[in-house]
Amino acid sequence: MAEETLFTKIINGEIPADIVYREGGVTAFRDINPRAPTHVLIVPDKPIPGVNEVAEADAEVLGKLFLAAKKIAEQENIAADGYRLIINCGKNAHQEVFHLHMHLLGGHDLGCMVAA
Ligand code: AMP
Repeated sequence: MAEETLFTKIINGEIPADIVYREGGVTAFRDINPRAPTHVLIVPDKPIPGVNEVAEADAEVLGKLFLAAKKIAEQENIAADGYRLIINCGKNAHQEVFHLHMHLLGGHDLGCMVAA
């Protein structure tokens, strides 16, 4: 039995979230602490802890994260102006929730990449 994460609880409806997308083993919901006008977390329903733990068998669902990002960006009307996708992995990237997720950020000029 895979370990229950905060995001598993959201996916299962055990804790509330503003879900914007759910399809083919991927769920997406608004970040509780948004860093941009649109800030959505795109999460595989399978609780993969992070990028270090992805396996060959996860290739299909990982592709679906990108397809979801594209569809949600269209849904949120940010596709044309552009957006940023971020996946934090581990300590140096300040990963807080160990259930793999892609941040979709947009809705204004996000600046250049990250601080040095
Ligand atoms: P990361 O640092 O990449 O692990 O990002 C975790 C993200 O989860 C942060 O941006 C948090 O604001 C967000 N977060 C934490 N708890 C919740 C929640 N209950 N609902 C939505 N987003 C959350």
